[in-house]
This record gives sequence, structure tokens and C-alpha cells, in this order.
Amino acid sequence: MSTPDPANPTEEEHREKMAEVKAEMKSRTAAAQDRRGILIVNTGNGKGKSTAGFGTVARTLAYGRKAVVIQFIKATPDKAEKVLRGENLVWHAVGGGFTWDTQDRAGDIALCEKGWALAEAAFADPSVSLLMLDELNVVLSMHYLETDRVVKALQARRPELHVVVTGRDAPAELKEAADLVSEVQEIKHPFNAGIMAQSGIEF
Ligand code: ATP
Ligand code: MG
Repeated sequence: MSTPDPANPTEEEHREKMAEVKAEMKSRTAAAQDRRGILIVNTGNGKGKSTAGFGTVARTLAYGRKAVVIQFIKATPDKAEKVLRGENLVWHAVGGGFTWDTQDRAGDIALCEKGWALAEAAFADPSVSLLMLDELNVVLSMHYLETDRVVKALQARRPELHVVVTGRDAPAELKEAADLVSEVQEIKHPFNAGIMAQSGIEF
């Protein structure tokens, strides 16, 4: 018998392999039966953390559910808001701009507190299905809000509420508390090749 070539299997070899995968998938889906709100953390130094969060917001809205987005740091709402907007979406941009532009720690902290009060309102509103806290990891790593306080509030939230937290440098305590942690690793970024941030891609 010839050794199977993974790039060019016979129909029989393919069928056998797929039957194995199917059995494995069946036992895994049978074991995953819980349904509850999850805490998602998108972190890492590569691009795509907020983009993925906005994609999750779009999915929630597609099911007619309500989403709240709170953009920390950023002073203007991401352009995604323009297409996602509707009665099921509430969007707040509560930043003063990049921290290296504002150079105003006390002012930045006050805006973070304002954003956190809006997050607490979403925790308390049972009609909200998904809460996205964009760049909250940056807020925590800059110590603008205390991580312990934020993690405790996230852990005490309504059990059905899904939360997405984005931004570089997610603190270990938050990753520990999360159900889903994705780290986007930079392999290449056009900025390093002298390509500017472009509309529709970066903003
Ligand atoms: P995006 O909002 O595009 O999904 P992100 O949320 O993963 O990006 P942020 O840390 O919020 O990343 O960065 C915001 C901006 O900085 C984006 O315009 C992004 O393209 C850019 N950026 C992200 N990673 C890098 C990098 N490694 N080098 C330079 N610029 C970057
Ligand atoms: Mg981002």
C-alpha cells in the first residue's frame, strides 16, 4: 500500500479522515452545552482588536439584540458606528484623544470615569446584550482606572451580558477573569513600510 499523500488523498482516505474529524467535533459540541454571557478580551500588538470587536457588535445587532459601545481614549466615534447605527445601538466616544496628544493625566482620568459610569449603566440595563469597552486595556495599563475595581465589576455583571474589551497590554488579572482571550500578534504592519493610516481601513 502506498503512503497517503496529504496534498492529494484518495476519496477513501479523505472520507476516513473526515469521519474522524466529524466524530471529534460531535463529542466536542456535545460537551459544550452551557449558554451564558462571556467576557472576551482582544489584546496584543497587532492590528484587528477593535475591528474584531465591531464585527461582534454587528453580529449582535443582526439578531435584533442591543449593543452598547464605549470608546475610551478616542475622541470621535469609529466610522463603523455610521453603518451599525440604529435603535439597538448606543455608542459613546469618551476620550480626549491619544494620551501622547492630550498630555493631561487628570483630564484623561476624568473622561475614563465618565466612560466607566456609562459602562455601569449598561451593566444595570437588562435590555443590553453586548457591551464593548474599546481600548479599556490601555486605560487599565495606564492606571487611569483601577484594574481590581474593573475586574470585580465585570465578574459581578448580569450573567447573560457579553462583554468585549479591546486594547494592547491587557492586565493579567483581566485575562485571568476572561472566558476568551485573543492576542493579535503583529507579523507585519504597513505603517512600518511607510504606508499611512488610510480611511476605511484604519479609521
Ligand atoms: P483596529 O482599530 O484597526 O482594529 P487595533 O484596535 O488592533 O486596530 P489599536 O491599538 O487600537 O489597534 O491601534 C489603533 C490604530 O493603530 C489602528 O489604526 C491600527 O492600524 C494602528 N496600529 C495597530 N497596530 C499597529 C502597529 N503594530 N504599528 C503601527 N500602527 C498600528
Ligand atoms: Mg483598537
